Amino acid sequence: MSEDLGRQGVGMTSLRTRERMVRRLREQGIRNAEVLEVMRNTPRHLFLDEALAQRAYEDSALPIGHSQTISQPYIVARMTELLLADGHCDEVLEIGTGSGYQTAVLAQLVGRVYTTERIRALQTMARKRLYSLRLRNINYQHCDGAMGWDTHAPYGGILCTAAPEEIPRDLRDQLAPGGRLVIPVGGDIQYLQVVRRTESGFEVEITDPVRFVPLCSGIVR
Ligand code: SAH
Repeated sequence: MSEDLGRQGVGMTSLRTRERMVRRLREQGIRNAEVLEVMRNTPRHLFLDEALAQRAYEDSALPIGHSQTISQPYIVARMTELLLADGHCDEVLEIGTGSGYQTAVLAQLVGRVYTTERIRALQTMARKRLYSLRLRNINYQHCDGAMGWDTHAPYGGILCTAAPEEIPRDLRDQLAPGGRLVIPVGGDIQYLQVVRRTESGFEVEITDPVRFVPLCSGIVR
C-alpha cells in the first residue's frame, strides 16, 4: 500500500512502529495472521490529524473531531478477528465509517465493504483517504446506519463501531445465514456482542468489556 501522501517523515519510521504494535497485539491475544499482516501494512497515522499522527501506534482511541474517536488498534483487531472467525466474508456492512481506519482494514480482508456514516464531514474525509490508499472495493452511504443498508443485504458480516443500548433489529435481519454481527452494546457499561444467524434463528455471544461512542439517530449534514 502506498504511503506517499505527503507525510514522508512519519511514513519512514512508521513501518517499524507498526511492527511493534503488531507484536503487542499478538501478546494481547490476537491470533488471526491475516488481520495482523493487514494491520502491519495499514498506515494508521494517515487517518489522524497531523498533530496526533505521532501517537497513531499507541494502543489508544484518539479524537477525530465532531466528538468522535478512532478505535484503539486492539479493538479494531479484535472486532475484525471476531467478524472473520468462520472464515472469509464476501460482503461486509460497516456502521460508523469515522476516520475510515477500520474500513481500510476490512477492505483488505473481504470482497467488498459497504460503509455508512451519519456525519457528512467525517465521511468526506474518510473517502478521500481510502481513495488515496487505492482501496476501491468500498461503497459509501451518508445515512443513519442503525437501519442497515438493505439494498445490498444480506451480508456475510456486519460490524458496528458505535454502541446502541440494544441491538437494532434491522442489523440482525440483514445478516445472511451463517453471517456474524459484531457490535458493542450498552450505555455506561458496554460489552462486545457477536450475533450469529443460524438456520433457525440467532445465537448471541457476549465477549469483551468495551467503551464506544454511542450509536446516534439521524444524520448530520
Ligand atoms: N471505525 C471508526 C470509529 C469511529 S467512532 C474509526 O476507527 O475511525 C463511531 C462512528 O460512528 C462515528 O464516526 C459516528 O459518527 C458514527 N455513527 C454513530 N451513530 C451512527 C449511525 N446511527 N449511523 C452511522 N454512523 C454512526
